[in-house]
Formats: sequence, structure tokens, C-alpha cells
Amino acid sequence: MVKYIFVTGGVLSSVGKGILTSSIGKMLQARGLKPTVVKIDPYVNIDAGTMNPYMHGEVFVTDDGGETDLDLGWYERFLDLSLKQENNLTTGTIYRSVIEKERHGDFLGRCVQIVPHVTNEIKNRIKNAGKAVNADIVLTEVGGTVGDIEGLPFLEAIRQMRVEEGYENTLYVHVALVPVLDVTGEMKTKPLQHSVNELRRIGIQPDTIVARSPQMIDAEALRKIALFGTIPESSVFCSYNAETVYQVPLILDKQGMGDFICQRLSLKCDVKDFVAWQTFVDGMIHPEHEVRIALVGKYAGLSDSYVSMTEALRHGGAACKTKVCIAYLEAEKFEREPECLKDLANFDGVFVPYGFGPRGTEGKIAAAKYARENDIPFLGICYGFQLAVIEFARNVCGLTDANSTEINPDTPYPVIDLMPEQRGIETKGATMRLGVHKVVLQKGSLAHKLFGEDICERHRHRFEVNLDYIDALKNKGLCFTGKSSDGRRMETLELPDKYFYFASQFHGEFKSRPGRPSPEYFGFIQACVNKKLGLPKV
Ligand code: GLN
Repeated sequence: MVKYIFVTGGVLSSVGKGILTSSIGKMLQARGLKPTVVKIDPYVNIDAGTMNPYMHGEVFVTDDGGETDLDLGWYERFLDLSLKQENNLTTGTIYRSVIEKERHGDFLGRCVQIVPHVTNEIKNRIKNAGKAVNADIVLTEVGGTVGDIEGLPFLEAIRQMRVEEGYENTLYVHVALVPVLDVTGEMKTKPLQHSVNELRRIGIQPDTIVARSPQMIDAEALRKIALFGTIPESSVFCSYNAETVYQVPLILDKQGMGDFICQRLSLKCDVKDFVAWQTFVDGMIHPEHEVRIALVGKYAGLSDSYVSMTEALRHGGAACKTKVCIAYLEAEKFEREPECLKDLANFDGVFVPYGFGPRGTEGKIAAAKYARENDIPFLGICYGFQLAVIEFARNVCGLTDANSTEINPDTPYPVIDLMPEQRGIETKGATMRLGVHKVVLQKGSLAHKLFGEDICERHRHRFEVNLDYIDALKNKGLCFTGKSSDGRRMETLELPDKYFYFASQFHGEFKSRPGRPSPEYFGFIQACVNKKLGLPKV
């Protein structure tokens, strides 16, 4: 019998539901159980792909090319899973399939309604996610905040699942903010109480409540949460601020949450193994070195825009006992004030992330140039890769005003151009080159040294290196060392005479895991440390 755990959030969004859901999964996994995860995003978009990162943070890309909510990234990192597009439900996906069924005639003669047709679609998709991978437990995180209009059909669906799947097979976890007042230092549980009331109004009584607070809740807060949440004190847990989010499963397990869930759902588990996880966490919180990385981006104002990249840099750091301090720098600043470029000398590495459109590109190109000329370790990902090509074409090959046609359609030297199969595509949703594609690596190259054998990495792009310029770039020393299977797509570049200058068209960060960092990120951080320590290049 499959068990279902539902996570709801109260008081405000970004309360840490994604980390909590991932942590619950980790506690179950440590006990030898097999969880899978579904994220519900009540917005109307079919997927996150068409949204600006400033709306909901980065777009996470799955192996199968799904452009999903960033929480799927947390589930994958915590649970080392490879999830699918189907693991992310939005109002758009649900309604689209209900409407398609209606047009097909599946509901002939009936009036199609939110209850039962939309709620049935939601329940089926949650159940199918479990069946697809033969999971013991399906964790479902309901995005947004309890009380949002958009969330109601989803909450109704999970309410019904209690009745249909049985009390012993379903568990409701509610997490809400417990703020501490600056002035008095008092912990305030009233907002949490109200959010529990709101949940009850919908017909859901939580089985366990997690207080999200800056520090461990005190006895009085615990008493109130239990009393007004109508649950025993032993079912209240606290997710307080930690040095790294990877500590959260350990923190909650220590409070007994893992055992509580297993008992409540009659899950058989005799083992509990956090050894590998603890080792990784220890590496993170007891570093021996420290490096400072300049991330030169377009969405620098919201670090969630670069969350997978940030985590991949940290995974790389943990693997060489290095604390990675990231400065999120607005690329446009280097355009307005070029004299600021020399500040990059204070960093151990320069990182140019993904991006779209012209804004900030000249600043990123200038940063890539500064890193190359001053031999600061450099890593470029996707747009970062393309902009490094443009920089090299302009400043080394002498192709003045070389550019990407994404930035300047009239450039005299379109060194980056639209992929042929992208020509004529007018619609924007899910039309990029997405998901995993094979990359063949040149023996003896840095890419080969880092990654080993040929690889499958995730992609999300419309533009690529224009084959007409390969010879010109190669002749001046730019090496394309990773290519698509047919050899027609440039996937990695490197400058062998530099300490570390590497970039990839693919996104290694999406497959980076705690304890198993993406090789390009690991190689970059290790190079930053080694160079800082004055060690010769490896
Ligand atoms: N804008 C570039 C493209 O579409 C790069 C995309 C990215 O960085 N993900 O090819």
C-alpha cells in the first residue's frame, strides 16, 4: 500500500516547504524507504519555462526536458532522484488535460466541474507519480500559502485522499512561520494558529506541525502550537535556521520527526543510515579553505534565480573542504562603471551563469575578458559559454562587434546563432533544446579529465556556436573539447594555456548532488583553491 504525505504551508510563501518536503524524504530514505515527490504549483502556467526568474526563482530542468519549479531541484539534490515533468503539477497542466478529455468526449453527457473532474485529475496524477516509480511514499508539496484561491482545488483533492486512501495511509504536515519579535524577543504563534484554522476550514486537520523559526521554539510556543493546532506536543517539530539547508533532515530527525512519521504510517523500518549525508554536511560546515566567487549575472537581485548553480558551487566546495562565498554581481554595473572590473581581482574565480536577452551581456563579456586576461579561474555556463565565445572572437580573433544574433541580429560576425531547427518556431513554451543530450569528450582535454567518459547533461537553449567560425576560433587557440554525438554542436570550450578557463553549453548544475558534485563545478572550485594556495595547475 502506497503512503501519501502532504505538505502545506501557512502565513507566507518561501517558508521552506521545499526544504521540509525534501528533508522528510531524506528521513524516510535514510530508513531504507523509497519516496518520490510531486510539487503542486497552483499558477495557471503549464510550466515554469516562460516565467522570469524574478517571479519564482530559477527554472529547473529535468532529464526529460521539463522546465519545472526550482523545488524539484531540491528534491533531486536531497534524494538523488531524477524526476520527470509529471512530478510538477500546475493549474495549467490539470485544466489542459481535463479540457482535452472534455473535447475528446470522455465526459459525454456530463457537466464538467472542478469537483469532481478537476480534483479527480489531481488525485490521479499524484497516485500515478507513485506508481510510475514503484514508490513506497508519495510526498506532495502544495505550493503557495493555505488560503490562496488558486490552491483550493488542490487542497480539496488532498482532503479527499484521506477519505479514499485511509487514515493510516495519509499524513498532513503543515509548516508555518513563527516569527520572533525584534523588540521583545518573543516567539509569536498567532499567525501559525490562524493558518491552521484556515486549513481546518477547508477540512484538513494537520497531523503534525512544523514551526519555521529563527531559533528552536521555546516551551511556551510549543504548548500553544499543540493546544491550538489540536495535536500532541510530541507531533510539533521545529525547523530553525541552520548553517546549511542540508542540516534540516538531521535537525528534524533528532527531534523525532522521522520516527513519528514511520509510526503514524506504520512504515516498517529497522535501519537508519545518515552516514554519507552527515559526512557531506560535516565537509560543508567545517571547511579548511575559503574561496570568493564573483557570479556576474542578470538576475543578481534574487539568489534563487541561481539556486542550482549556487548549490553546485557549494557541492564542489564541500568536496574539497572549501567554503564558497558567492558575490552576486549585477553585470550591468560593469557596463556603467567599467572601472569596477578591476574589483574582480579580489575574487578567486569568475562565474558567468545562464541568461536570456541583451540586458547585461556586455558586462558579462567584459568580466569574461578580465578573467581571461588576468588568468582568474573562469567557469561559464550556457549563456556564459556563448558570451565567452563572443569575447574571444572579438578580442583575440579580431572579429570586431562579433555577437549572438539573440543580442544583435545585424552583427557582422554572428559567432552564436539560432540552432537550425529553432528557425520558424514562433511559440515560446517548451520549445528550446531541452533535457539530456549526449556529449562526446575529446581524450586528453580538461573536459575529459573532469568528466571522464562521454556524458549526458541537461540543456536549455535556442542558440549555439555558429559552425562557420569554428576554424577562426580554433586557430587562435580556443578549444572545443566536448561536442554533440554528430559533432555539429559545440558543448564545452577551454583555453589550455590558462590556469582554469572552462565553459559548457550544457548545465552541469542540474545533475550536481551533495557528495557527487558536477565535475565542471568541482574542477572550477578546486582550481580556485589551488591557485589561491599557489599550487601549480593540475
Ligand atoms: N539565451 C541563450 C540561448 O537561448 C542561453 C540560454 C541559457 O543560458 N540557458 O541559447
